[in-house]
Amino acid sequence: MSAIAANLKAVRAAIAEAATAAGRSPESVNLVAVSKTQPAEAVAEALSAGQRMFGENRVQEAKGKWPVLRDRFPGVELHLIGPLQTNKVRDAVALFDVIETVDREKLARALAAEMTRTGRRPNCMVQINTGREPQKAGIDPDQAEAFTRLCRDELGLPMIGLMCIPPVDDDPAPHFHLLAELAKRCGLNVISMGMSEDYPAAVRMGATHVRIGTAIFGARNYAA
Ligand SMILES: *Cc1c(COP(=O)(O)O)cnc(C)c1O
Repeated sequence: MSAIAANLKAVRAAIAEAATAAGRSPESVNLVAVSKTQPAEAVAEALSAGQRMFGENRVQEAKGKWPVLRDRFPGVELHLIGPLQTNKVRDAVALFDVIETVDREKLARALAAEMTRTGRRPNCMVQINTGREPQKAGIDPDQAEAFTRLCRDELGLPMIGLMCIPPVDDDPAPHFHLLAELAKRCGLNVISMGMSEDYPAAVRMGATHVRIGTAIFGARNYAA
């Protein structure tokens, strides 16, 4: 078994354990393998091991890597988990199945226009800035409901859930708790939270999607 296949197996087991401990079914948690910066061969190993849900941060990188991989491995669901510039909306709508990072009105309007133009409608999530960090993208928690209503009811975007990236130095648990609470209030079922360092806690607190890179692929090499 390849190292990546072994890592995937271990992560799946840890997800199942955390889910079971919380009285949830392991199948209620989706594993988004974060393949940003990873070469196509590493991603192909994960695909060969049966993984089909992936997350990428950059439209440009995904555009270079995924069309060929998708031809080789049918059934991929690709998530955009990084910031989206409005001038990349056309590529993003064409390439991704889920856009997790809807974080401002201008972007929501651009996505709605592109979906109307093309008829292609990737599912969308609102990124919430649970730590209210000034430098971080995301909607303020107090605006979650109003922004969700704008996206869903006024613009007609296919909204499915909320995602967050807690502040690096905080205990993530209160952020996970807040995101789960906000999702309930917004009437959304999908909760994307938890990364390599903290996904068992996220699963215990209701994550339906965990986004895991390092624990599957090893450390990232940004220089490559
Ligand atoms: C990189 C990234 C992840 C994965 O982080 P790891 O610590 O490598 O698991 C998850 N979510 C987002 C938004 C990311 O940018």
